[in-house]
Amino acid sequence: MDLKQKNEMEILRSRDESEGKRYWDIEKNEKFGRYLVAAKDIAQGEIILTEKPLAWGPYTTNSVLVCVGCYRHINGDTKAAGCSRCHLPICSQKCQNNEKHQNQECSAFQKFKSKFNFRNDNGEYVIEKIPYSVILIVRILMMKTNSPENWKIFNVLDPLLDEWKAMGSWEQDQEEILNTIITSLGLDIFKKEEILKVIAICCTNTFSKFLEPDNEGPANKENVTVGTFM
Ligand SMILES: [Zn+2]
Ligand SMILES: [Zn+2]
Repeated sequence: MDLKQKNEMEILRSRDESEGKRYWDIEKNEKFGRYLVAAKDIAQGEIILTEKPLAWGPYTTNSVLVCVGCYRHINGDTKAAGCSRCHLPICSQKCQNNEKHQNQECSAFQKFKSKFNFRNDNGEYVIEKIPYSVILIVRILMMKTNSPENWKIFNVLDPLLDEWKAMGSWEQDQEEILNTIITSLGLDIFKKEEILKVIAICCTNTFSKFLEPDNEGPANKENVTVGTFM
């Protein structure tokens, strides 16, 4: 293992926030990439790994209108006001003022809001017009300037980009995301390949989570994609 790989392994190991001795280690296989091995006996049900996600965002395709701040349904109100700055669907003032929303996609979409129309002629949100698949990617790209430390960790993750490209129409399927980011949002400081790598890292490493209902409204199924990264 060369020095670069050793450093990468250390970054990944340092993500574990469980207390005490680590239960696992990372090894690498040329064919299958990184994998975990047990470093000691593990009892059934024992928590072996705790880490905070580097990023998260709304599920890429939603069948109902979802707030980009808290990921919950915007209940039946397709004429909801939305964010007054970026016009994306937002359920409340609290979500509009959420620091993450303001500093990330809100600032990007606000600048170019004239290029987007998320509604029909009746002023109702049209789910298919809302770029849910772009939100998490924009949040991650903005880490490069907003949070260089997290950007560095993110880039240690395996993209398996060549493998994704070799799969059917994967690369063509990303065209819309690329166009929105480079052309409509003017984030042209990123090269196409760099954005494809971010998408591939997400395809390889993210999972989606069902939100539980709480008193802020009913939960949606699979409406949040969590980027947890090992
Ligand atoms: Zn909300
Ligand atoms: Zn906004």
